[in-house]
Amino acid sequence: STVLVTGGTGFIGAHCIQILLEQGFNVKAAARSQEKADQMAQVFDKYKNQLSFGIIEDITDYNSLVNLVKGCTAILHLASPYTYAVNDFKKELLDPALKGTLTILEAANQEKSIKRIVITSSFAAVFDATKGLQPGVALTERDFSPLTYEDGIKTSDPAVAYRASKIVSERAAWDFVKDKRPAFDIVVLCPPMVYGPLVSTKTLKSLDQLNFSNSTIWNMATSGSNSSVPPTKGPVFVDVRDLAYAHYQSLVVPEASNQRFMVSAGVFSNQEICDALREQLSPARAKKVPVGTPNKILDPEHFTTDSTKAIEVLGMSFRPVNEPVVDLVNQLYDFLG
Ligand code: NDP
Repeated sequence: STVLVTGGTGFIGAHCIQILLEQGFNVKAAARSQEKADQMAQVFDKYKNQLSFGIIEDITDYNSLVNLVKGCTAILHLASPYTYAVNDFKKELLDPALKGTLTILEAANQEKSIKRIVITSSFAAVFDATKGLQPGVALTERDFSPLTYEDGIKTSDPAVAYRASKIVSERAAWDFVKDKRPAFDIVVLCPPMVYGPLVSTKTLKSLDQLNFSNSTIWNMATSGSNSSVPPTKGPVFVDVRDLAYAHYQSLVVPEASNQRFMVSAGVFSNQEICDALREQLSPARAKKVPVGTPNKILDPEHFTTDSTKAIEVLGMSFRPVNEPVVDLVNQLYDFLG
């Protein structure tokens, strides 16, 4: 059976493709250009009999998506802009996220072979910033951000617009399932900050192309021993390899049907990351990492997450924070040569 993956040219999507190929699935990857498809083909050269591509310049174009979903049995939908380097929040964040999700669902709804769609939502669709730091509270899949489409347009903060783009898209997916009663079911995953090595650095031309979450780690890890450790803004994380496994399990576990999952390893602090990097990198690499206040976490007390449901239903276990960040930073130094 063939699984369509949107956003497969991205950081998380490439890991999802990798695990599906390893598990013997055929994968059709959506790419925005032939050039990106060719790069991906090179990365997954070993699996060329299992991997095909669909070039979709515009993820909101219904007719192209109808073609794309043909013959597929399931979809992993990851394509969504995750960047704060935007001017027009509506055009660059909200509309591609929302219309992209709705168009995928509509296209899938006329292809009866599709049984399940896994949607990569986010902790951004869980967290309610107006509640502050919420010490002592464990956020789960039962929590929903109250942000609306209008909130995402009228804000001047791209982080708020991004969070709105995620909750609005997710809400639209749940409404779609409720109103249209499609033949497929959906599974929604809500990961917090996703860190870890790239499937391959072959597609990377420069570190300017690094995805957003990983770029925050790289910038901190190379900022110099005397720079200050930045405050921990999104203080919950998951390793990208664990998240890829969650996507795979979401496809194959029947009980995941129409369920939402918090997929989080738990809290971290930037100080903890810096401590791990200084301990586990080579001396030449470690000396670029800010020292801060070793082994002492100065972040204010804040919420945690509870991923019991993902552990029980999806069979998740989670790597500790040192693994994704040490592996990432070493990979990027090796890339730079
Ligand atoms: P990347 O930026 O690495 O990947 C984003 C993917 O989406 C790319 O394949 C990109 O295509 C595609 N994409 C972006 N904008 C559009 C658009 N307008 N039309 C079509 N495709 C588009 O990000 P991640 O891999 O980190 O993110 C993947 C998903 O995971 C997103 O839905 C994101 O919201 C979600 N997520 C990420 C978290 C993180 O910390 N990284 C945390 C929680 C959720 P192209 O390669 O052509 O640019």
